[in-house]
Amino acid sequence: MSTRRPSLLDPVFRSVETLPGIGPKIAAALVKLTGPYVLNLLFHAPSHVQERVALEEPDDPHVGKLVILPFEAEEHRPPASKRMPYRIIGRSGNQSLEVSFFHASRDYLHRQLPTGIPRWLSGELGVYNNRYRMLHPDYMVPNDAKASIPRFEPRYALTQGLSMQRLHKAIAAGLELLPHLPEWIEPSLLKQRAWPSFGQALALLHAPDGKDASKARERLAYDELLANALALALVRQNARKRPAPPLTGNGRLQGQLRQMLPYQLTGDQERALEDISKDLGQPERMMRLVQGDVGAGKTVVALLAMLQAVEAGRQAAIMAPTAILAQQHFDFIAPLAARLGLKCVLMVGKDSAAAQRQARMAVADGSAELAVGTHALFQDGVGFRDLGLAVIDEQHRFGVAQRLRLSDKGQGTHILLMTATPIPRTLLLAEQGDLDTSILREKPPGRLPITTIAKPVDQRGAVVDALKRALAQGAQAYWVCPLVEESEVVDLANAEERHESLQKVFGDQVVLVHGRMTGAEKDEAMAAFASGRAKILVATTVIEVGVNVPEATIMVIEQAERFGLSQLHQLRGRIGRGSGKSTCILLYQPPLGETSTRRLQTLRESDDGFEIAEKDLEIRGAGELLGTRQSGLPKFRFGGLEERPDLVPISHKDARLLIMQDPSLRATERGQAARLLLYLFERDEAARYLVTAA
Ligand code: ADP
Ligand code: MG
Repeated sequence: MSTRRPSLLDPVFRSVETLPGIGPKIAAALVKLTGPYVLNLLFHAPSHVQERVALEEPDDPHVGKLVILPFEAEEHRPPASKRMPYRIIGRSGNQSLEVSFFHASRDYLHRQLPTGIPRWLSGELGVYNNRYRMLHPDYMVPNDAKASIPRFEPRYALTQGLSMQRLHKAIAAGLELLPHLPEWIEPSLLKQRAWPSFGQALALLHAPDGKDASKARERLAYDELLANALALALVRQNARKRPAPPLTGNGRLQGQLRQMLPYQLTGDQERALEDISKDLGQPERMMRLVQGDVGAGKTVVALLAMLQAVEAGRQAAIMAPTAILAQQHFDFIAPLAARLGLKCVLMVGKDSAAAQRQARMAVADGSAELAVGTHALFQDGVGFRDLGLAVIDEQHRFGVAQRLRLSDKGQGTHILLMTATPIPRTLLLAEQGDLDTSILREKPPGRLPITTIAKPVDQRGAVVDALKRALAQGAQAYWVCPLVEESEVVDLANAEERHESLQKVFGDQVVLVHGRMTGAEKDEAMAAFASGRAKILVATTVIEVGVNVPEATIMVIEQAERFGLSQLHQLRGRIGRGSGKSTCILLYQPPLGETSTRRLQTLRESDDGFEIAEKDLEIRGAGELLGTRQSGLPKFRFGGLEERPDLVPISHKDARLLIMQDPSLRATERGQAARLLLYLFERDEAARYLVTAA
């Protein structure tokens, strides 16, 4: 079976250049603005709809508005110089109106607005020299053609070299090409929501004609969500159906490890492990997400799962998003592995060639049962002898492409995803589809709650004084400076400056870590801090994920108002890990807006990552929340996720049912229609999985 795009869609996958009246220049502008295909153009939604008010004559209340007016020219006044406008004075109802043009041809204007002949004009009404004026009308039509001036005109984002009029024409031509498409939305849902058909919805979107286009937008938003849900359901079905040898352990290594641990697992950790154990025992590949708030103790759960793979005679690997984090996992795992008689290698891609070769050999010949690393683990040239389980820590940090690559790489490899970013259910659905999930809500016992305070930045001096006292009593502290992509250099300078100024007070007890440092430099600074030689770690957000130094009990976050709520929570999670009492100080730049105030307050009041994530979603909407996470989340053109989160679960339920009834999207009419939908919303990557599904 082929997964070629259905030919019914060919007309809308024509290049924009083939549209009538579109030359190469305009086409280039359109491609830049919307994309190469006619379809991209049709999906370019108006930013708003402008209404023209038809008047009998100009009046003051409509100054500044877009109006339609009658006009009869009385006198043409060509400009005295090129810099002056060409003015035409005439009557509009009982008022005097001047219509003026810069750089216009005299012949043209005499043809358009001959004296003594009534016309209809449209444009923005202004006042100049005590007279009503219209500059550059956008329509000038004969008296009997008033109806040809649109009352409602969608306005679009534009780009250089493209006028609104041109875009209108191009879109209108594109709409002509749209074939009649069968319906993919479940009939009862369509009826219940009173949604127009796909074709009607697009037409309404671009030619609102005074009608309410909200149903059209809603439908298109749903279409996009459904396409996404279908794609995820297909990918997942594929992952699911992939056979993988069951990993049944004898519990020997796990038992030994449990005895080495200085603590008992929490109930949630035990439950997550049970889920994992059961999945691993199945003859199909596991695909499970462990969601656990920062500090919930995910690493040890991962290690126990990895030992189950080793007990079953296979290898296991854990991949972390940063070298720092990989190192930390290695420092935790390697000594324990050694006591269990296992070999664990580290692969972060920055080691010496010889070390890399050695590590590669050890995983290739199977002498290393365990491997820890960054994405270097799954680069070309790395081949595991027999990888039974791959754990992906902080999985939201990896893009979809990396995840797909990994899942393609490990045939017969079970996959365990872990995230410390509690993801509200709607987002999780939109991002992952219906994933098996285990949640660690319970924190390991004995943790003292973290005190969180917010202070305006001018109290930084007082904070430094407090730090002095705390350090004198043996505390360690993180000092976080924001790093925002747009101005990386500036922000870096901030961190460096803070490092310097703190050094003046604390000397070489202060170390700095930021993203521009080499791996070795970072490691050195981290090691100094982790061992307690350094007392203050100044950092950009590279420490955000996973770093674990239990002795650190103070966290200062500068410009806290610039961080997302979940991000702040993640950062704060770096402290409160030991038995000491911890304090988080949020320094902000006053005045704080309402949203920022609410965010900082939420953080002071709650320590539950899931609750905070829901609040974050509520306060800021999904778009922003996701913006702060470098997630591989697909873009939603019609705002389905941000504006209609209520439709997300519906789309997933619908997609699941559809795939259940027609796994090849071929056997039923609705299935075939849904296949079109996948292509329309460029989710056809997933269509390759239809092959195996058939
Ligand atoms: P995260 O879920 O953020 O990855 P970690 O796995 O880094 O959390 O664990 C945080 C800290 O909690 C570590 O120091 C770890 O040793 C400790 N820890 C994990 N599980 C328990 C437990 N059941 N009881 C006590 N401490 C635990
Ligand atoms: Mg972790």
